[in-house]
Amino acid sequence: MKLYNTLTREKQEFEPQDGKTVRMYVCGPTVYDHLHIGNLRPILVFGTLRQYMERFKGWDVIYVQNITDVDDKLIARAQEAGTSVAAIAAEYTDAYFGLLDRLGVVPPTHSPRATDHIAGMIKLVQQLIETGYAYEQGGDVYFRVRAFNEYGKLSGRSVDELRSGARIAASEKKEDPLDFTLWKAAKPGEPKWDSPWGEGRPGWHTECVVLSRHYLGDTLDIHAGGNDLIFPHHENEIAQAEALTGKTFARFWLHNGMLTVNGEKMAKSTGNFAYAYEVLGRFDPETVRYFYLSRHYRKPLDYSESALAEAEKAGDRIRTLISEVEAELRGAGDEAPGHAGTAFIASLTAFKDRYLAAMDDDLNTVDALAVIQELVAAANRFRATATGADRLALRAAVNLVRDLGKPLGLFQPRGAASTGLTDELMELLIELRAKLREDKEFALADRIRDRLTELGIALKDTAHGTIWTREES
Ligand SMILES: [Zn+2]
Repeated sequence: MKLYNTLTREKQEFEPQDGKTVRMYVCGPTVYDHLHIGNLRPILVFGTLRQYMERFKGWDVIYVQNITDVDDKLIARAQEAGTSVAAIAAEYTDAYFGLLDRLGVVPPTHSPRATDHIAGMIKLVQQLIETGYAYEQGGDVYFRVRAFNEYGKLSGRSVDELRSGARIAASEKKEDPLDFTLWKAAKPGEPKWDSPWGEGRPGWHTECVVLSRHYLGDTLDIHAGGNDLIFPHHENEIAQAEALTGKTFARFWLHNGMLTVNGEKMAKSTGNFAYAYEVLGRFDPETVRYFYLSRHYRKPLDYSESALAEAEKAGDRIRTLISEVEAELRGAGDEAPGHAGTAFIASLTAFKDRYLAAMDDDLNTVDALAVIQELVAAANRFRATATGADRLALRAAVNLVRDLGKPLGLFQPRGAASTGLTDELMELLIELRAKLREDKEFALADRIRDRLTELGIALKDTAHGTIWTREES
């Protein structure tokens, strides 16, 4: 599999360093507010990468995504709301996990909260002071950027270039404008922890280094996040980690592109903005996923209601095939398909190969979705002409769509409801309705159909008998 590595600026062949377990860290949310639609992108994209690796590459993935639960924004929000930072963090951490659940995101292997690892952060800062990479000034601790001579390697900028644009704020006591905060002295009323430099709290850049090393060791296989984090956040993570260990901090750096809204930068102040939960109130989670995966993760993504409506239509084409074929073949036998059916099944391999090639090419979900659409189109063409036992071959197409959709979080069976007893009861109702119509008891037959509609179940009379589908709510 090839992945584009921001560090080397090229697509490189990826393999986990030990050949079997991918150690992956994705910068997580700062829980001071609900997630907005831009925050969803890394969650969906890198979650898909993880699931693809687990399902189709045969690797285990340890997936760590932090929760930043102490930070300037949280403090400001708590002061505004007249409550504690812990209360704000608890509220929005719950909201975050609720959102992952609604979106069908597999939860990270570990979701460490920054405040559970303060001791580790103090230790890291101490080690950096001892080795000359950091210094204390009046209760604050700064990283000495000029002591780390590879600074700028991720963002591709030189220290001189960076320095020319940097200024030291009046409140700061830095040696150099590029030096960044590792530890911040607490102001009155702020959350604080005891440290060798007095009461204070860790900086954000330190948090991710400590949390990733705690769960994944000195060298990560993949470190990922939005491309707005390349500088300074990820550059500063590299400086601390590599100054400390002398080893490569992350072998691959993956960055997703930013989201625009109706062609413009997303901004709360202008109202050109949407929370993730608002979108999920208007569109099905599958539609939201389809939309995010229908553009390559490194490109900018433009959010609009019409783009989501298109994603909905595209997804419906696929779901319709699945539900109709499953409804038609429910309870059908398993005799061998004839020549045409066998040939159709054999033709499916090519779709899977093309899907794998797309996903292996820097997670090209755009092409992967196009392949699934083509597979569905081929299945629909086959369906239009196939008869008898040949139609059973459609099961293989549906199974393949589900299999390929799995890492994308798309086209999976909903819940466990449509199994066993439900199937049998539905067959009984369909049989009864057919009998009533035969006996010209149309009012009663219609009543069965209407009551089912009210329950969200649609009956469709086709050339191959009556099928039922559950309306997606
Ligand atoms: Zn981070």
